[in-house]
Amino acid sequence: MNKINHVVIAGGGTAGWMTAAALSHVLGKQLKITLVESEQIGSIGVGEATIPTLQYFHRVLGIDEAAFMAATQATFKLGIEFVDWRQPGHSYLHAFGHTGQDCWACGFQHFWLKGKALGIENGYGEYCPEHEAAKALRFAHTKPTSLNYAYHLDASKYAQFLRQFSETRGVIRVEGKITEVELCPQSRNIQALQLQNGQRIEGDLFIDCTGFHGRLIEQALHTGYEDWSHWLPCDRAIAVQSEHSHTPLPYTRAKALIYGWQWRIPLVSRQGNGVVYASHEVNEQTALDDLLSGLEAKPLSEPNHIRFRPGKRRRQWHKNCVAIGLSSGFIEPLESTSIHLISSGILRLLDFFPTAGINPSEVHEFNKQAELELIGIRDFVILHYKVTNRRDSALWQYCASMSVPDTLQDKLSLFAETGRVLKERNELFEDSWQQVMLGQGMLPAAYHPIVDNMTDAELRHFLMQIRQQIQQRVSQLPDHREYLSHYVRQR
Ligand SMILES: Cc1cc2nc3c(=O)[nH]c(=O)nc-3n(C[C@H](O)[C@H](O)[C@H](O)COP(=O)(O)OP(=O)(O)OC[C@H]3O[C@@H](n4cnc5c(N)ncnc54)[C@H](O)[C@@H]3O)c2cc1C
Repeated sequence: MNKINHVVIAGGGTAGWMTAAALSHVLGKQLKITLVESEQIGSIGVGEATIPTLQYFHRVLGIDEAAFMAATQATFKLGIEFVDWRQPGHSYLHAFGHTGQDCWACGFQHFWLKGKALGIENGYGEYCPEHEAAKALRFAHTKPTSLNYAYHLDASKYAQFLRQFSETRGVIRVEGKITEVELCPQSRNIQALQLQNGQRIEGDLFIDCTGFHGRLIEQALHTGYEDWSHWLPCDRAIAVQSEHSHTPLPYTRAKALIYGWQWRIPLVSRQGNGVVYASHEVNEQTALDDLLSGLEAKPLSEPNHIRFRPGKRRRQWHKNCVAIGLSSGFIEPLESTSIHLISSGILRLLDFFPTAGINPSEVHEFNKQAELELIGIRDFVILHYKVTNRRDSALWQYCASMSVPDTLQDKLSLFAETGRVLKERNELFEDSWQQVMLGQGMLPAAYHPIVDNMTDAELRHFLMQIRQQIQQRVSQLPDHREYLSHYVRQR
C-alpha cells in the first residue's frame, strides 16, 4: 500500500463523527479527511449512556466538559441500577468507582466477606463513594480524589456537536447515499465510493461507520460475522423518548423482565426509555405495550424499532478498511459499552495509524487487541444473564442452563471458590466484576487467608472507618441537579 493521504469515513452517526473529530484533531494537518453520510438513511438514534472512558477521549480531543454537556443536554452518570436481575424485588447498583481498600495480596471483597461472616450486614456498595453518591442523588467534581463518572447524553446532539468540532478542523462532509464500493481488481482494496448522486470519492484508507449495514466491511469486503446470540439471547429493541417525571438521576436504570429488560436514561431535558427483548420469547406488540404503559411521563417521540444480532465482525481491520462502531459488531446495550468501543477503536487506530502504508503485522495486532477487548466486555455482559436466581420464564431458564465461554467460566469458578477475581491484561471492568457477581447473587465459599491476620475487632474497625469516611464525603456533596445546572451555566 501507498502512503495514506486521504481518509474517507463512511457514515455520520456517533461512530462517524467521533472518528472524524479525533482524526482531524490529531492528524488533521497531515491528512485530507472526508465524511460521507446519508440523511435519507439516518443514524440509529440510540446510544445515550456511557462509561467513564469517554472523559479520557474528550481530554485527548481537548473538549471542554461543560460546553459538551450543555450542547448534549448531558447529566452525570455514576453507575447503573440493576432492578429485578438477581430476582424480582431485588436491586443493586453497579457503580463506577472503586470499592473499599485493597491490600497488596487481595481485593477488598475478601475483607467484606469476612465481615459478612461476622454478621456485619452492610452491602458491598456501601463501601464505594460513587455508589453512595448515586443513591443520595449527589454529585460534584471533588479534589484531590475525583468521583469516577460518565455521562448520559443526547446522541443526535452529540453527533452535531462533533460535526461542528470536525468541520472547523477541516473535515469535508459529503451528503449522499453510497451505492457502490469500488474494489481494486488486483489487491481487492477499496478504491472509491460511488454515491447515488453520481459523485465518486477516492481514498487511501476507508473507515466503515455505516452502522449495522456494514456497507464497506461486509457488503463489499465480505469479512464475516461471529454470532454470539446463543449467549446473548436478546435481538430486538424499541426506544422512545419521554418527558421527565422527576429530577434527573445520576445513574441509568436497567430493569429485568421475563423476556429481556428495559432502560431509563435521564437527560436534562427529557428521558430516554427502551426495551431490549428476545424476539422468540415475546411479540413486538406486547414489548411495545409494556414499554409505553410503564413510561413515567408523556412520550415525546414515535417508538423506534431496532433489530440486532449480538456478535462481532471477524476482523475489524480488513484490507484498507477499518470498521468502527456498529459495523464492527454489537454486544448489546446492557452495560453501555458501545460508545466506549468506538473511542477505544479510534485510539487504537491512531496508535497504529498506517501513515507510510498498511503493514500486515500492525493490522494483525490491531485486530487481536480489538478482539480481546470485545471478548472481555462480552463475558461481562453474559454474566448478568447467567448468574441469577430467576427461572420465571423460558428466557431465564435458557440462561440458567446455557454453557458460557470458557473465559467467563474460569472467572466464575475462581470467584465462587476463592473470592478472587481473574484480571485480564487491560481489563476494562476492574472492580465491576466483584460488584456485579455479588449483586447478581454469587457469594464466594472462601476469603483470602491474609484477612485473618486482623483480629475481629480490627476488621470491624477497618470496615467502619471506610464507611464513615464515605458517608462524610458524600454528605458534603451537593444535589446532582443543582450542581449540574450551576456547572453547565458557569461556562
Ligand atoms: C437498542 C440499542 C441501545 C443502545 N444503547 C447504547 C448505550 O446506552 N450506550 C452506548 O454506548 N451504546 C449504545 N448503543 C450502541 C450505539 O447506539 C452505537 O454504538 C452508536 O450509536 C454508534 O452507531 P454507529 O455510528 O456505528 O451507527 P449509526 O448510528 O447507524 O450510523 C450509521 C451512519 O452511516 C450512514 N450510512 C449507512 N449506510 C449508508 C450508505 N449506504 N450511504 C451513506 N451513508 C450510510 C447513516 O446515514 C449513518 O450516518 C445502543 C444500541 C442499540 C441497538
